[in-house]
Amino acid sequence: MLVAEVVTVTDRLTNSYDVMVLGGGAAGLNGALMLARARRSVAVVDSGAPRNAPADGVHGLLAREGIAPAELVARGREEVRGYGGQVVDGEVASVDRDGEGFAVRLADGRVARARRLLVASGLADRLPDVPGVRERWGRDVLHCPYCHGWEVRDRAIGVLASGPMSVHQALLFRQWSDDVTYFAHTMEPPTAEQAEQLAARGVRVVEGEVAALEADGDGLTGVRLADGTVVAAAAVVVAPRMEARAGFLSALGLRAVEHPSGAGEHVPADPTGRTEVPGVWVAGNVTDPTAQVGNAAAAGAMAGAQINADLIAEETREAVAAHRRRLAAGAGARA
Ligand SMILES: Cc1cc2nc3c(=O)[nH]c(=O)nc-3n(C[C@H](O)[C@H](O)[C@H](O)COP(=O)(O)OP(=O)(O)OC[C@H]3O[C@@H](n4cnc5c(N)ncnc54)[C@H](O)[C@@H]3O)c2cc1C
Repeated sequence: MLVAEVVTVTDRLTNSYDVMVLGGGAAGLNGALMLARARRSVAVVDSGAPRNAPADGVHGLLAREGIAPAELVARGREEVRGYGGQVVDGEVASVDRDGEGFAVRLADGRVARARRLLVASGLADRLPDVPGVRERWGRDVLHCPYCHGWEVRDRAIGVLASGPMSVHQALLFRQWSDDVTYFAHTMEPPTAEQAEQLAARGVRVVEGEVAALEADGDGLTGVRLADGTVVAAAAVVVAPRMEARAGFLSALGLRAVEHPSGAGEHVPADPTGRTEVPGVWVAGNVTDPTAQVGNAAAAGAMAGAQINADLIAEETREAVAAHRRRLAAGAGARA
């Protein structure tokens, strides 16, 4: 006979939790799933804007290939709730120390307390300021060949130089199409070594500032230069500056710093997600800007397990101390 445990959950924030998860994308939800299954009281606070929201589907994800980003998150929320975890819509405004734990304040004034924090608030993509880029971001303005390369294979692809990785991006996207154009835009032109690599791989280099992207009802059609020339393109690749969404941690002394790749800012942590602030873990894009959905989810699961182990260590220390007190009291009474 199958006996199902009935777990009743409301998504009203209560006063205190073992763990609060700040951000409910792939990383935060997988962390919360581990914690809820470990019978921890856990609340996820999420403002509902996962980074890949503009994309049609999540690619490169085993067994969920092509799933819509919103569906992935909705399934994750249900899975967390199925084990008694809470998922609360809201935006974290600030976090402060509160005795041994933390007080989490939401933008709407709600406050809740937690013994540990898992920060999984992702990153913000700072896009190059070229008309058409923001409007088409995630559809035919792209950054990641593993997310979108297959979908634009054999099409005319423009690479808008906008970061230290742009030449690398052009060489990568060449794997998916033999029609790749590198637009130097306002960046330094490629070095002699880079120019040789691009030429050898058949990537054209166009100098001059890009004025705008052109599109019709079916999608992107071209890249317009400041001199009026239009170069045909069905997709444009950019290199956004990636900035951790972590401003709400400043009162804890935890700040985003420059990522070693030069691609943006992240919150540093050890490989398990533990930060320099005791009790605070991070997972996903907030600490690793290169993480895909699968990596972010795995990092969340790792951090969730580590947090549970940390709580068990604390509870064991307290239990041993109480145990000794009981033994000492018993010995005193016998004497
Ligand atoms: C256009 C695009 C397409 C992509 N396509 C793919 C793909 O095909 N395959 C793939 O593997 N990866 C893809 N990615 C990468 C993918 O988006 C990330 O790997 C993934 O989103 C990282 O998960 P995360 O949980 O770290 O962050 P996110 O998914 O960004 O989740 C962070 C969550 O935290 C919330 N949040 C932020 N600040 C706060 C706050 N103050 N209070 C409360 N909540 C907050 C946000 O609303 C969000 O829901 C793509 C990225 C982009 C930009």
